[in-house]
Amino acid sequence: MNIYGFTRNELEDIFDKIGEKKFKATQVYEWLYKKRVNSFDEMTNIKKDVIDYLKQNYNLNKLEILKKQVGNDVVKYLFKLEDNNKIEAVLMKHDYGNSLCVSSQVGCNMGCSFCESGRLKKVRNLEAYEIVLQILQVEEDLKIRITHVVMMGIGEPFDNYDNVIKFVKIVNDPKGIELGARHITISTCGIIPKIKEFMNLDLQVNLAISLHASNNELRSKLMNINKAYNISELLDVIKEYVNKTNRRVTFEYIMLKDVNDKEENAKELANILKGINCYVNLIPYNETSHIEYKKSSKETIMKFYDILKKNNINVTIRKEFGSKVSAACGQLRSNYEEETKWNMHV
Ligand code: SF4
Repeated sequence: MNIYGFTRNELEDIFDKIGEKKFKATQVYEWLYKKRVNSFDEMTNIKKDVIDYLKQNYNLNKLEILKKQVGNDVVKYLFKLEDNNKIEAVLMKHDYGNSLCVSSQVGCNMGCSFCESGRLKKVRNLEAYEIVLQILQVEEDLKIRITHVVMMGIGEPFDNYDNVIKFVKIVNDPKGIELGARHITISTCGIIPKIKEFMNLDLQVNLAISLHASNNELRSKLMNINKAYNISELLDVIKEYVNKTNRRVTFEYIMLKDVNDKEENAKELANILKGINCYVNLIPYNETSHIEYKKSSKETIMKFYDILKKNNINVTIRKEFGSKVSAACGQLRSNYEEETKWNMHV
């Protein structure tokens, strides 16, 4: 088993079971995440028989970096997992820090029509350690500290709820990576039962909702999830979430030319979001060769932005990260498949 997949509490229980003091688990955690050792032997304040036990039962295996594309403010990674499946992570350099977009599943079953990642059906969930390692390995490779993590890579995080929450606990631990909960964003297409569970956890983690449409007819065309949980049900639960947590929610809105970017969509969106403590993030679409949608023009995006602003909706436009580096999630993997005719586990 991979040692990066344990919360500190779980590691303490393991130490307890083998008759060791619990604080030894904290020391191991510090070796892993503060000092970033690559072997158990380097943990010099842990006794030899405990090291032997750890070596026999756990490993520190890493992911393999299969491909890396470097752009101006963006570095994109294709990782190979131990079972040969592949996932992506994208590092984006902002004024406020380094943000890593991580994957949570191999493929995705949600089938959003504009999404490159969703072209590969879900093969499996990522284990918590496979999400943790995306952070550790990008930090090691680029010799930087990641200050923000967004779960917007391949996969629907709430379709892998338990491992995603475990990942949050591991990276948020003050004895570990110590990434502030407020610097972590989970983005979901709107799985209502999981949003309800999540709001009761009392974590300070940010929640983003992939909305992408201003009415049910349009959203159902773009996103299958809307057939299970429609916009009004979704917004009801979001109001509940905001009331309970006192936290602001982000709505993601991909701007698709002549699909969801008309003035009437902006007005409709402003209307349905009225009174919700939120902001809208308008995302210029990253065109891909496999999907027919086109990106909205800058003028259209600005007009959409202005209408939301005029209607007192907080709104931002996401900085575009070099389409030259296949920045839309799923693109690097799918381009790689074509280049190498790799056999996916589908
Ligand atoms: S947008 Fe997200 S939820 Fe939808 S198919 Fe893509 S990865 Fe899955």
